[in-house]
Amino acid sequence: MLIGIVSRRGTALVATLGLGTLLGCGVAAELAESEGPGTSPAGSMRHSEADLYVASARLWRPMTVAVCWENPGLLDGTQRQWVRDAVARTWETRSGIRFTGWGTCTAASQGLRINISDAGPHVKVLGNGVNGRAQGMVLNFTFNNWGQSCRNTLQYCIETIAVHEFGHVMGYAHEQNRPDTPSSCTEPPQGSSGDLTIGPWDLSSVMNYCNPQWNGDGNLSATDQQGAQQTYGVPWDSLGGNHTSGPAVAARGANRLDVFARGTDNQLWQAYWTGAMWNLWFPLGGTLTSDPAAVSRDGSRIDVFARGSDNSIMQKSWNGLLWSGWSSLGGSFASGPAVASWGASRMDVFVRGTDNQLWQTFWAGSTWSAWLPLGGTLTSDPAAVSWGSNRIDVFVRGSDNAIYQKSWDGLSWSDWSSLGGNFTSSPAVASRGANQLDVFARGTDNNLWMNSWNGASWSGWQWRGGELASAPEAVSKAAGQLDVFYVSPDGSMRHSGYNNGW
Ligand SMILES: [Zn+2]
Repeated sequence: MLIGIVSRRGTALVATLGLGTLLGCGVAAELAESEGPGTSPAGSMRHSEADLYVASARLWRPMTVAVCWENPGLLDGTQRQWVRDAVARTWETRSGIRFTGWGTCTAASQGLRINISDAGPHVKVLGNGVNGRAQGMVLNFTFNNWGQSCRNTLQYCIETIAVHEFGHVMGYAHEQNRPDTPSSCTEPPQGSSGDLTIGPWDLSSVMNYCNPQWNGDGNLSATDQQGAQQTYGVPWDSLGGNHTSGPAVAARGANRLDVFARGTDNQLWQAYWTGAMWNLWFPLGGTLTSDPAAVSRDGSRIDVFARGSDNSIMQKSWNGLLWSGWSSLGGSFASGPAVASWGASRMDVFVRGTDNQLWQTFWAGSTWSAWLPLGGTLTSDPAAVSWGSNRIDVFVRGSDNAIYQKSWDGLSWSDWSSLGGNFTSSPAVASRGANQLDVFARGTDNNLWMNSWNGASWSGWQWRGGELASAPEAVSKAAGQLDVFYVSPDGSMRHSGYNNGW
C-alpha cells in the first residue's frame, strides 16, 4: 500500500517555552517540549484533503486512550462532565478516537493524566507523548487567577478549552505554527509543531489562534473533522455482542439492516436496525464453521448462508414472517460463502473450493444449479454484489494477498484483475449505485481499507481506521449510502455509516 503524504515539514521546530501571551481566557500557556521531527507510522497516512498540523509519530495506536483525573474535587463533578461531554461531542463523534475511564488516577495510571489547577490550560507535549506523564494536561475550572473573563462564561470556557487541548492530545499542533500560515495571521507560533501538514491552512480550525471565533467556540471545522478522520479513522458505534466470526449484513430498505455473526456457541446470531434503533442479538440456531453471508432479494425476505459442520453450504431464510430451518446446498468447501442478488428470483452464491478455485451456484426462482468452477487461486472467502440486472462483481484475496475482481456482465465472466494491496482478511463489497463499487478489507495494520470504483476508475486503497479482529462486511441500504461492520478485538460488533460523509 502506498504512502502519499502531502507535505512534510523539515527540521525547523518551534520551542516556545514559558507562559506565552494571554488571549482572553485563551490557551496561551502551553509548555510544550521541543520535539524532533516525527516519522510517519508505517501505513498510517495516505490521503489528504483536510487541514491540521499533525505530529505523526505521536498519534495514539491503538486509538483508545485512558483518561484519569489526578486531583478531582468533591465539587467539580459538573465541570469534569463538561470536559468529557465536549470531547464526546466533537473528536469522538467525528473520528475513531476513544477516551475511556475518566476515574481518579493512581500512581501507575497510564494514558492521559489531567490536573485541575487555576493556571493556563496546557498539555506538556503533543499526542501520545503525554502517556502516563504527571500533569500531562492542566485544565482550569475556576479562572479566579488565570483568564478571569471566563468566570462569567464558565461552561463555555471549560468546554471550548477542552476541545482545543484534547486536539493537542490527539497530536495536533497549533494551526498558526504551520509554515504556510498567511501573513494575515499575526499570532506567533506557540508550542511544538507538527511534522505533517494535511490540506490547506484552516482559519476556522479549533487549533488556530487566528480563528476569529475563539477556539472555534469549541466546534470542529469541516476540515478539522476530515483531518481527525485521516489520523484516527472514521467514527464508529458499538453493537456489543461476543462474536467468533466476521459479520454478514443484508438491507431490506433504507430503514432496515439485519446483521448476522457466529456466537461463542457457534450458533447464528442476529441484530437489526429499524431506522431508529438497534435491537441486539437474537440466537437463530445452526452450527457454523465460517463467517455467514446474507442478502435481501426483494426488500422483505432475507437469505443467510454459512458453511456447516459438514463443510457444505447451508441456507436459512426469512420469508417476512418466519425463519425456515437450515437446508444444505451441498458441496464441501474451504471457506465461507458470499451471496449477491439482482432481483427477487435470483441469488448467486460463491465459495472457495478445496481446490482453492472460486465456485458458484445460482438460484433462478425454483432450484439451485449445480456447483460450477470459475478458476482463480483464493486465499479468503469471496465477496459479491450485484449493482444491476445480470451484473455480478466478485472479489477475493489472491495468493499474493492482493484483492482480485472477477465480473459477470450477463454474457460472460471477465478474467481476474488485481486491485493491489496487502491484506489480512477476506474482502467485502457494497454498491452505492449503478456501476459503483466500494471494496473493503483489513490491512496488515488491522485497520480498515477502502477502494472505490466510480464507474471509470478505482480510487486506490484509502485508510479508514478501526481495529478489526475479523473481515469487514458492507452493504448499501439506499443510494449513496454505506454501512460497514466488523468485529473488534473484544468480540463486539462495530458499525460505521457513510452518507455524504462518515
Ligand atoms: Zn494550544
